[in-house]
Amino acid sequence: MLTGRTAVITGSTSGIGRGIALKLAAEGAQIMINGFGDKADIDALIAELEKLSGKRAFYSDADMTDPDQIAEMIKMADAKMGGVDILMNNAGIQHVSPVEDFPADKWEQIIAINLSSAFYTTKAVITGMKSRGWGRIINLASAHSLVASPYKSAYVAAKHGIAGLTKTVALEAAEFGVTVNAVSPGYVLTPLVQAQIDAVAKDRGISEDEAKLEGFLAKHPNKDFIEVDDVAATVVYLCSDAAKGITGTNISMDGGWTAV
Ligand code: NAD
Repeated sequence: MLTGRTAVITGSTSGIGRGIALKLAAEGAQIMINGFGDKADIDALIAELEKLSGKRAFYSDADMTDPDQIAEMIKMADAKMGGVDILMNNAGIQHVSPVEDFPADKWEQIIAINLSSAFYTTKAVITGMKSRGWGRIINLASAHSLVASPYKSAYVAAKHGIAGLTKTVALEAAEFGVTVNAVSPGYVLTPLVQAQIDAVAKDRGISEDEAKLEGFLAKHPNKDFIEVDDVAATVVYLCSDAAKGITGTNISMDGGWTAV
């Protein structure tokens, strides 16, 4: 379905971004991944992406806190792949702390990675998408783009911000065949969430299963985690021609969390 399209996925060496890269490759898109990690793991992922898509795949180690490195990543994508048709802004981190103790450097880092990086990538790709008359920008937001939880001030602020950025760019790009949407999962069992589960279990002296239920699935009326593959399938759908009229939306995938 996506043969002939190119995609850049930020933060795709792990978790949701990795799952999205694999699914887009399986649909035939040429892929550039980004993020940190072990070189052997990244090489293996590149080989898997190449096998799935039948196209060369690329890796950028650009740090999403650095606008210059972000610009270089998009330049590299343009040079190697002839442009970016699909931009998946996925990189994100978390830090949990009461606001009065929230470290200022963590605040800056979360706003930079989870929000500002999407501004810089979008700014770098949008002219090419408009001129080709086709583009898909998808921002991995979160249920926390719609509701808050205590102790996650920077994360919730960044995710509410990305929901606003999504709507604004969608309006600016609407007449050019470029759609811009957000996808907002509830809890997905990735390394980012596993680290929070471990911390809750340790802090409260409870088992991992109790921490999952009390700390996380309590938010999901369906009492189940969201799966990486299901998030990736939604992204693939948004890239399809059938989704050409869907723009400026924020699609919830949260087991009913934000319906409450
Ligand atoms: P993860 O920790 O598994 O993966 C994060 C990725 O971002 C990794 O590839 C990492 O290398 C990369 N990354 C981190 N800092 C970076 C930086 N400075 N520059 C470039 N890359 C960087 O996390 P995940 O759970 O897959 O989360 C992915 C996205 O999904 C995030 O935006 C997160 O907020 C969002 N999200 C996650 C959940 C969840 O429950 N896991 C729920 C809703 C939204």
